[in-house]
Amino acid sequence: MTRVLVVEDEESIADAVAYTLRGEGYDVDALADGTAALEAARSETYDVLVLDILLPGLSGLEVCRRLRAESDVPILMLTARTAEVDRVVGLEAGADDYIAKPFSMPELVSRVRAILRRRELDRSDAGDGVRHVGGLELDLAAHVARVDGRVVRLTPSEFRLLSTLSERPGRVFSRRELMQHLWDSSYVGDERAADVHVANLRRKVEADPKEPVRLVTVRGAGYMLAEV
Ligand code: CA
Repeated sequence: MTRVLVVEDEESIADAVAYTLRGEGYDVDALADGTAALEAARSETYDVLVLDILLPGLSGLEVCRRLRAESDVPILMLTARTAEVDRVVGLEAGADDYIAKPFSMPELVSRVRAILRRRELDRSDAGDGVRHVGGLELDLAAHVARVDGRVVRLTPSEFRLLSTLSERPGRVFSRRELMQHLWDSSYVGDERAADVHVANLRRKVEADPKEPVRLVTVRGAGYMLAEV
């Protein structure tokens, strides 16, 4: 059974989300506190986390950051409607997607389904073999990336973006295209999320993330992976 951990301290939202996801057939645990959420995520095995940002105890961002250092569990962040900055920092903390409040329950369900579906694809359709682009090495089955022989830890979203770009080194991918590949569907989410994921990736695969030579911006067009 698919297990979901919902972490939200606003009772009305938490209840609605848990009720809806249970109705979809998921096994749902609900917590209202960041510290308890981190503990639960470490001791239990969940298929996806729905994580609010503002929480008592640890913030959702801090929970996300700490989990990302040790786990690839998919994370959907709940963000305040107006706080643009929340969306960006959520992705920077390693979340896979976010949904802005107020959201409808069908919208939530479709996001959770998209995350779970993508994870299934990552597992079953991981591809085989190892792809080399210059000093970058992607082990598509093991989901391990190396830069000049050094293993770099990537989130599932980062790995997927990098593997998309590495299919055609030197070809420019638009933000929209990258997001479509990221979700493997016409669901795109916020195209600007591509910029955040690319910035995260640069910190991991570039010698100087401020002067990227590998993950190159092509102004007005998108991004490409160069063979260096
Ligand atoms: Ca909250």
